[in-house]
Amino acid sequence: MTTTAAREHSSGFPDSAWRRAFRRRLGAWYDRHARDLPWRRRRDPYAVWLSEIMLQQTQVATVKPYFARFLQAFPTLEALARADEHDVLRLWEGLGYYRRARQLHRAARIIVAEHGGEFPRDPPAVRRLPGVGRYTAGAILSIAFDAREPILEANTVRLLSRLSAYRGDPASAEGQSVLWSLAEAVLPRREAGRFNQALMELGSEVCLGRAPHCGTCPVASLCQANLQGLQQEIPLKKAKPRPEAVREAAVLVRRRGRVLLLRWPEGRRWAGLWDFPRFRLHNAAIRRELVENVRQLTGLIVSPGEHLKTLTHGVTRFRITLECYRAEYVSSAGDVQSPLETRWLRPSELDDYPLSSTGRRLARLVGDG
Ligand code: SF4
Repeated sequence: MTTTAAREHSSGFPDSAWRRAFRRRLGAWYDRHARDLPWRRRRDPYAVWLSEIMLQQTQVATVKPYFARFLQAFPTLEALARADEHDVLRLWEGLGYYRRARQLHRAARIIVAEHGGEFPRDPPAVRRLPGVGRYTAGAILSIAFDAREPILEANTVRLLSRLSAYRGDPASAEGQSVLWSLAEAVLPRREAGRFNQALMELGSEVCLGRAPHCGTCPVASLCQANLQGLQQEIPLKKAKPRPEAVREAAVLVRRRGRVLLLRWPEGRRWAGLWDFPRFRLHNAAIRRELVENVRQLTGLIVSPGEHLKTLTHGVTRFRITLECYRAEYVSSAGDVQSPLETRWLRPSELDDYPLSSTGRRLARLVGDG
């Protein structure tokens, strides 16, 4: 619903002369400066959807090889729907935010089951797909079908906030309402997909966060932040919470030349991925904690061995120090049943299993000894 604040703010921004000038200049700039990205060479909804999901929280340069490999393995939506989740996650390995891959896979199966394998064109049906929010739905529908659907993501939030000199918090309910209204108001009647891509491109390549290139910006004379010298104040920045430091341990448990993996269940970090037994450390008596945690996770008694390595990595708001240990299988615990799926694998088989980035680094240590 459009709030009063949103109505008041948007009313001062896109009068028709402004909108016409803005679209004309943006279009001309995009004609000359659009990057040649692999997903821009295709307009089928499957490829557009895949690129949009991969690009969430991930840089263009990182996404490019994944996009190519994924389409090679699953060239159509039906091929993705038929695939095993294990293989989808293995291909996604290293991109992070693995929930995206599982939701993409689930959505492909829903499209096959409920829409005969044809990507839906109806906005509510698209928004009901797992992992598809208002932005992703708008991007797919406008780019693949030229539907007149607005988009709002990090680059356009910054761009639209500055163009209109919106000084509020863009993440607040009011800010979202204002900015979605603006995104809708500037949309042309035709070629909405190309226009949306041009908006994102200008935001990511010219209207940069810290040092926007106002001197070469094609819409500088239409931009309120530029005219009022407010580029550094807009958009309003919120202080990021400090990452929380935690200590964890991971254990390479061996038994007759094989190593133990477990699979994280639904609801856990890295759900669907395989991993070495891993847990939070709470005190200094690491070896005792190690034996007890492996027992609880796997139903096995182990004898702790050498400390292999310390890894540090970030997951969401946590800064994790991961202590990696070796251990030898001793026996089944008898009184504890593992709640998780576990497997004993030969070191050479680890390559076939989807692991987190630190899991893969640990897998390389298995080969060392
Ligand atoms: S003039 Fe500067 S602040 Fe305004 S849209 Fe262009 S780059 Fe962004």
